[in-house]
Amino acid sequence: MSASSAPSLSEFGNPNLEPLLTGEQIQTRISEMGAEIARDYAGRNPLLLGVLKGAFIFLSDLIRTIDLQIGIEFMAISSYGAETRSSGEVKIVKDLDVAIEGRDILVVEDIVDTGLTLSYLLANLRSRGAASVKLVALLNKHERRLREVEIDYLGFNIPDAFVVGYGLDFAERYRNLPYIAVLKDPLIQ
Ligand code: 5GP
Repeated sequence: MSASSAPSLSEFGNPNLEPLLTGEQIQTRISEMGAEIARDYAGRNPLLLGVLKGAFIFLSDLIRTIDLQIGIEFMAISSYGAETRSSGEVKIVKDLDVAIEGRDILVVEDIVDTGLTLSYLLANLRSRGAASVKLVALLNKHERRLREVEIDYLGFNIPDAFVVGYGLDFAERYRNLPYIAVLKDPLIQ
């Protein structure tokens, strides 16, 4: 097989992707968010709690813009099947390894869509005796909200479309895109 007929597995310029936010726009906004968080939490030691897997890139870029002593933890959650989804109940797949009593928690999430996952998670964390629980989200699709969730630090409001990249996946693909794009047709490989 010649090099030109070999299948291409390149991803970043995939024509099924409609770019929405450039890497540069994302970094600029994250720097502003990090500076705001550092100002608001001056003199304190917040615990940043990343929600796996989608928030891992956002969290790693965000913490490098927060000039404070911070802690990092991760949780992984998955929603139950379609019928139980409307109840907002989610399954904790990986729980915290540490007690959060008396800590200032900043939950770091990739995207708030219906709000079901976050409203469950925030209530769960508050019940564990944290001093405060606030939410940092990179993206917000407000049109789709079923449960009200207060986002304390928001990167971008986006339209109601399925987005991938910068940690966000479709069936585990596209997390490594260095920008955020609308997936035009999920059926096209
Ligand atoms: P919610 O409970 O707010 O409906 O769901 C939030 C979760 O759904 C996010 O953490 C993310 O995993 C997933 N999600 C919602 N909208 C999108 C989207 O446009 N793209 C991707 N990749 N995931 C999404």
